[in-house]
Amino acid sequence: MVILSSGMQARYDSKDVAKLFGISCSSDAWYIERHPKLDPVATMTEGIYIAGCAQGPKDIPASVVQGAAAAARILGKIQQKEISLEPVRATINQDQCSGCRICNDLCPFNAILFHEDTMVSEVNPALCQGCGTCVAGCPAGAISGTGFSNEQILSQIEGILLLNIPQQAAV
Ligand code: SF4
Ligand code: SF4
Repeated sequence: MVILSSGMQARYDSKDVAKLFGISCSSDAWYIERHPKLDPVATMTEGIYIAGCAQGPKDIPASVVQGAAAAARILGKIQQKEISLEPVRATINQDQCSGCRICNDLCPFNAILFHEDTMVSEVNPALCQGCGTCVAGCPAGAISGTGFSNEQILSQIEGILLLNIPQQAAV
C-alpha cells in the first residue's frame, strides 16, 4: 500500500493559544468545536470560531465550507450591532478578595483578571459565561453569581424546608 499523504500534527503552541482564547483542545492539541453536528465551527467561548485544520486533518472542500460558515457566523454577529450577554455572571467582592489568584486558573473562559497594583481579581463581564466554577473555588467566599448569592440560596432552602414541614407532619 502506498499512502500519498503526509502526517499532520497540531502546532506546538496550540495549547497556549487555546488558553489565551479560553477554548478546548483534544489530547492531540487540536481545537474542539462546541458540538460536532449541531455547532461544528463555534467553540465554548462566545465569538471564537474555528475552521478547517484547526480541528484536525481535513481536506480542502471541508475546510472551505467550514471557513465560509465561520465567516458567516462572524458577519451575523457584526450585523447585529449589539451582543446579548449571559444574565448570570460572577462578580468579585474586592473587599473580601485576598489576592490568592486561585480563581484565575479555574475559569475555563479566561474571564478573570488580576490587578497587580491592587492585588485583587476582577471578572470581565463580557467574557464570563456564568458557569459558577470560580464561585465554588474561591476560598474567601468573595465571588457570587447573579441571583445565586449565599443569602439567596439559603433563603430558597429555608423556603423549601418551610413548604415541606406540613407534608412531613401529615405523614
Ligand atoms: S479565589 Fe477568591 S480570594 Fe482568591 S483571588 Fe479569586 S476572588 Fe480573590
Ligand atoms: S462564573 Fe467564574 S469561572 Fe465561570 S465563566 Fe464566569 S468568571 Fe469564569
